[in-house]
Amino acid sequence: MVKSTALQVWPIPAFSDNYIWCIHDGHSALIVDPGDAAPVIQYLQENQLQLTGILITHYHADHIGGIADLLSATSNGHTLPVYGPVAEEIPGCNHPLIQGDEVHIAAPASYFQVLEVPGHTLGHIAYFAPALEVKDPPRVEPPRLFCGDTLFASGCGRLFEGTPTQMHASLAKFAALPGNTLVYCTHEYTLSNIRFAIAVEPNNTDLIAWAKHAADLRAAHLPTVPTTIAQEMKTNPFMRCDQPAVIAAACKIAQRPALDSAAAVLAAIRAWKDQF
Ligand code: ZN
Ligand code: FE
Repeated sequence: MVKSTALQVWPIPAFSDNYIWCIHDGHSALIVDPGDAAPVIQYLQENQLQLTGILITHYHADHIGGIADLLSATSNGHTLPVYGPVAEEIPGCNHPLIQGDEVHIAAPASYFQVLEVPGHTLGHIAYFAPALEVKDPPRVEPPRLFCGDTLFASGCGRLFEGTPTQMHASLAKFAALPGNTLVYCTHEYTLSNIRFAIAVEPNNTDLIAWAKHAADLRAAHLPTVPTTIAQEMKTNPFMRCDQPAVIAAACKIAQRPALDSAAAVLAAIRAWKDQF
């Protein structure tokens, strides 16, 4: 039998700015949000990986469009598990999930907790893998979050269906995760998000340092993700709706002397970002 390695998580670029995440142990692979099958099939073949399951965060085409072709190309007639939100229409989904569900996968050995995070879409879910001590080979897998289009590096998803209050509550679930949680976003929106974040908080020194680092990464054609929850708490205005500088910027843009909640602050800066 082939020996498993530590989990590896790799971005497969798709379309203009999507990342399809591949979680693998050197021979078995999970795929998160395959919007397009072709780059995934190629990646699995090149790395000699066997697909064992698919995780879906929400129903938008750039996250589900490749499910059918990926299954028919890789399943050899077996039924593979396809996980997704119960509240949304996901083609091929045979494991509908709700808040608090747990996903246990034998290969690659992994475990996820399901978070319902409405806002971008109403049924949107995220997958959180807590830190895991593993014996063979001995290691600690870091905590990981697959957040779909809910959280981006220094940004958040557009509110297509949900309210600012729902998005604020969803981001609060992420804020409660360990700071070292690796955040696997599904789009490379970082540089434009940072431009907006600096408009909100021009004096945020963590953000200014991150802007330089992210620009260097993109100049070298490298992804700016995964980021971490700790980093988002320092640089993401949508995770900082309780911070005086963000509240002041939100009041100014909304032309209001005060805003009565963090959700109202989020509403104001999200509306600003939509026009930015
Ligand atoms: Zn989406
Ligand atoms: Fe998307």
